[in-house]
Amino acid sequence: MVLNIASEIKFCDLCEVCENIQKSPKEKACLILRKYITEYRKLGERLKAEDQQAEISFYPVLRLLIPKFDRERSAYGVKEHALAKIYIRILCLPKDGMDALKLLNFRSPKAGVNQAGDFAEVAYFILKNRCGEGRKFTVADVNSRLDALAQKHAARDPRGMDDELTQLLTGMSEMEQKWLIRMILKDMKLGVGHIGTFNAFHPDASALYDVSNDLSKVCTLLHNPNKRLHEVEITIFSPVRPMLSEQCDIQKVENCMKNSAFYYIETKHDGERFQIHFMTGTFKYFSRNGFDYTDIYGSNAMTGVLTPLLSKQLQPGVQSFIIDGEMMVWDKNIVAFRSKGDNIDVKSSHLQPCYCVFDILFYNGEVLTNKPLRERIKYLNSLITPCEGVVLQTERNIVKTKDEVIEHLNEAIDNKLEGIILKDPESVYKPNSRKAGWFKIKPEYTRGLMDQVDAIIIGGYYGDGRRRGIISHFLLAAAVSKDGEPEEFHSLVRVGSGFTMDKLEELIQKMKPHWRECSPGEFPPGIIWTKEKPEVWIEPKNSYILQIKATEIVESSSFKVGYTLRFPRVEEIRYDKKWTDCITVSELADLWQRASGKLYSRHASSIDPEASSPKKKRTSNHQPQLGKQFCSADVSTATIKSTLLEGKEFCVMSDYNGMTVQHIETQIYENGGKFVKNPGPSTFCVLAAEKNIRVQSHSNSKQYNVIHTEWLLNSVASHKLLPWTPQNIISVTPETEREIMLQYDVFGDSYTEISTKENLKELLSKLESKVSVQKISVHEMADMDIELFSGPSPMGIFRLCIAYFDIPSEDDFEAFCVRKSLELQKLDFEYYGGIVSTMIDDGTTHAVVHSRCHTRLEEIKLLNRERRKKIHIVNEKWIIDCVDQCRQMDERNY
Ligand code: ATP
Repeated sequence: MVLNIASEIKFCDLCEVCENIQKSPKEKACLILRKYITEYRKLGERLKAEDQQAEISFYPVLRLLIPKFDRERSAYGVKEHALAKIYIRILCLPKDGMDALKLLNFRSPKAGVNQAGDFAEVAYFILKNRCGEGRKFTVADVNSRLDALAQKHAARDPRGMDDELTQLLTGMSEMEQKWLIRMILKDMKLGVGHIGTFNAFHPDASALYDVSNDLSKVCTLLHNPNKRLHEVEITIFSPVRPMLSEQCDIQKVENCMKNSAFYYIETKHDGERFQIHFMTGTFKYFSRNGFDYTDIYGSNAMTGVLTPLLSKQLQPGVQSFIIDGEMMVWDKNIVAFRSKGDNIDVKSSHLQPCYCVFDILFYNGEVLTNKPLRERIKYLNSLITPCEGVVLQTERNIVKTKDEVIEHLNEAIDNKLEGIILKDPESVYKPNSRKAGWFKIKPEYTRGLMDQVDAIIIGGYYGDGRRRGIISHFLLAAAVSKDGEPEEFHSLVRVGSGFTMDKLEELIQKMKPHWRECSPGEFPPGIIWTKEKPEVWIEPKNSYILQIKATEIVESSSFKVGYTLRFPRVEEIRYDKKWTDCITVSELADLWQRASGKLYSRHASSIDPEASSPKKKRTSNHQPQLGKQFCSADVSTATIKSTLLEGKEFCVMSDYNGMTVQHIETQIYENGGKFVKNPGPSTFCVLAAEKNIRVQSHSNSKQYNVIHTEWLLNSVASHKLLPWTPQNIISVTPETEREIMLQYDVFGDSYTEISTKENLKELLSKLESKVSVQKISVHEMADMDIELFSGPSPMGIFRLCIAYFDIPSEDDFEAFCVRKSLELQKLDFEYYGGIVSTMIDDGTTHAVVHSRCHTRLEEIKLLNRERRKKIHIVNEKWIIDCVDQCRQMDERNY
């Protein structure tokens, strides 16, 4: 049998160490822990010497020392109360006796002055002199019994759990039991914290745990305390996760330049991140995500599109290396790089891949990741002889001040590049780390450097989910002007993202009266669109201008203008601009010319425009005009037909069922009533059909009776003034409420009238909502899960997750399949406690994008990059696996 270190270590010895750690001040406690780990490693070496296969990982102990961080063992479902009951039983304590009460009420000061609140300590004092000497169990035994306990809890076998606990506890001394209880309750109270424990094991342990959530992996990879993580991760021919760059706003660049006396500025290439591994004649090419592209680029000097050329550039003496850089496309015709966004046919004979190398991780058998960048780059000089169109070293300049960085950024803008990369010369190469001394600086990270486009809304699309029935997306246009006046509006882009629900609602309210249904094959006057057609349209003079931020203008036949905006987001709704102030088609063409489609051509300056200039106050160009709902009906031609409403004054607040406010007012007039625009002391009631802000404020004031418009129309139709019933009351004054209560119960059921089928249905629906249990917030539910299940509930896998599902709207077969699949996942997600959000807003935690439909992936990523609170972008498999495994899986694998 293979030797296992956990079977060699007595559990009581580990408890002894815990006891010493707990009793010592923090610094000494850390030393004790370090010493213990060193001894542990030495024992491991001795075992290895005996048996090469010996299991010597620190994991069996580490999972007991920081049990909260062990993700492998599921919850035990045992809390203090359950343990107290077991002790009362196995110690045969009288139920009302002092010891039983101390265990049950361990939080009370009566449990012991120094122990109160600490169940393990209370138990320890009660167990003293009642237990044997223990020393029976090894660390391996304890772990396997705890595994069994967790499995029995998962299998909902309380008797089995009871047996496991009884066996464990009865075989241990009081001191062992005390520590075992702490391990079960996952609160060790050692006083060194989990960071202290990780650091005692290895300086990179905490960082590795942060990205892996896997204690076993931490113990295996970092077993050697002298090997740093970035060295550990380097093996030739297996892809290394590339080091990443942190976003940096040029105006705040000084904050990133505090570490070193100088910094490097590197060209930011617009290609694909690639790593090249080489050893004794063999090459391997790995993409950013670790995919092997060797087949394309070539595994040796005879094959592929790049290796035959690249291998010629290697300098003598090079035996092995791993280099990091960007794979670009070189156009031999124009003798320049082509941009990623260009429509490139890689098979064209004048195009070839060209590798721009900017880092080296391994050279002739030596791992270099632990060396600072300034030293690493020296190796590059003795590695490769640059050759135009085949392999180049990334251009690198030294800068010391913010102004110098700005100069380089402006130069990049002029050269139509995406931005620049700032690097700390002291930075070591940390795989997958984004906060290790590299910064990407792009104009889009700085407000004011992007050109914005003010386009006008000409069409709308209905939303779904929470936005069902309301216009949630817009078709925007640019104007074709003649003599400075817009003559026509040509479709330019469709937008949806960027709104908060509040802002959208406000805009929708303003536009609501003006939407017109589109007739197939017909264009509204003065508006032209092409493939991208809206569901409803609006006359430009009733419309509004949206300020759009986008990354590029790209050609597109879906829009009449012939261009569209890439990754458009609404920055602001420009209520202050007149509809005629929208961008013109010729202005768009200018923007396109200026920066080859890129929407940043403005230069940065050392003065932060946001910080220095007071915010420009916008002046409104709109002629002040009353909203339509504020205009009264013109009754000059109407006649009074009945006296039904005689002597009664009404105030109509909203349209109803296609009838405008003015139409309802005319009905009031025709039936002898009066109408006013603002309710007063003589107003009989306010009529409304929706709870808009004005209605809400009158309802809250309780000054007026606010009644559903349907009541008025029913009364008019039946030629008699019907009584107000709870079904048509929106809100009433306290006096009316008292009267109504004499006639109806709390559910609106009349004490005197016989129920009809219809009002019974309505009553039942009210019953459901009124009798429903008290609403519990998701956070309260999450707390309850922890209380009830000692961790996440198996039915609450997605508790606290708010996910946006990127469901494609196109109607081809593939989109249909994707939609159905995502809708199924959505159901599962909600069933297991998640909340679905119809847009990516501040509360969103996840975006689920189907693995077969990436149309909006880039847009979502871009949105995410701009958010402070990042969301997880996952595919549907994440939900499937979480449900399968009954736990939340690590999103990074999806
Ligand atoms: P990220 O790679 O940071 O997750 P991303 O894929 O959206 O984000 P960008 O934000 O545009 O890419 O920029 C970062 C990328 O820039 C790097 O991953 C790398 O591929 C590329 N890059 C280009 N030039 C350099 C350079 N000189 N040094 C480091 N990275 C560079």
